[in-house]
Amino acid sequence: MDNKTELEKVEKEASEDKFLPLRETAKNLVFGKGNPNAKIMFVGEAAGRHEDEQGFPFVGIAGKNLDKLLEKVGLSLNDVYITNILKYRPPENRNPNPEEIRKHTPYLLKQISIIKPEVVCSLGNYATKFFLSEGNVDLMDKQPGITSVHGKANFVKIQDVKFKLIPLFHPAAIIYKRDLAPLWEKDMEIVKKEIRINPE
Ligand code: URA
Repeated sequence: MDNKTELEKVEKEASEDKFLPLRETAKNLVFGKGNPNAKIMFVGEAAGRHEDEQGFPFVGIAGKNLDKLLEKVGLSLNDVYITNILKYRPPENRNPNPEEIRKHTPYLLKQISIIKPEVVCSLGNYATKFFLSEGNVDLMDKQPGITSVHGKANFVKIQDVKFKLIPLFHPAAIIYKRDLAPLWEKDMEIVKKEIRINPE
C-alpha cells in the first residue's frame, strides 16, 4: 500500500474514533496536509478556528507564517507534511491536557511510522516536549521549554523511526512576540543547514 492510501486509512480510523477527546466540540478532524512521501514533517499543537472550519492544519494566520518559513528555506507544501499533536481543536484554543495528548498522539505516531521522515520540526512547546520525551506523555513536564532548545537539532527515536528533531518557536508566537523574530530568523539558518538546502 502506498503512503497516501495508508494515511487515508488512518485518517478514516481517527474520524470514526468515538472516544477521541474533543470530537464533540470540534467541527472537523484536522489530520494533516502535504506530501505523504515527504522527508520533512512539521508538527504543531492543535487546530485553531480556521483549521477547524476547513479541516486542514495551518491555514490561518499562524499558517501564513509557516508558509513564509517554508519559503525562506526553499521548501513548499510539495516537499513537506504538516500535522498537529491534537487532531481536533480544543475549545477557545485552550492548551491540550495530558489525557488529550495521550489519546490523540497514537494517530501522530502512525503518521510518523508511515511517512518515516528524516527531519521533524516541532513547532512550539507541546510538540517539542512530546518528541523530547520520545512519546512518553508522563515525561513531558520534565522536558526543557522551547526557549532553551529552539534551533538545537537532536536525534530522536520513536517506534523504530529515527529522525532529526529541530525544535522551533510556534509560528503564532512570532506574531505576538516581535522580539522572537531575530531568533526565528537564526533558526531558519539551522533548518536550512540540517536539511542541506543551500541558501541562494
Ligand atoms: N496552530 C497549530 O499549532 N496548528 C494549526 O494547525 C494551527 C495553528
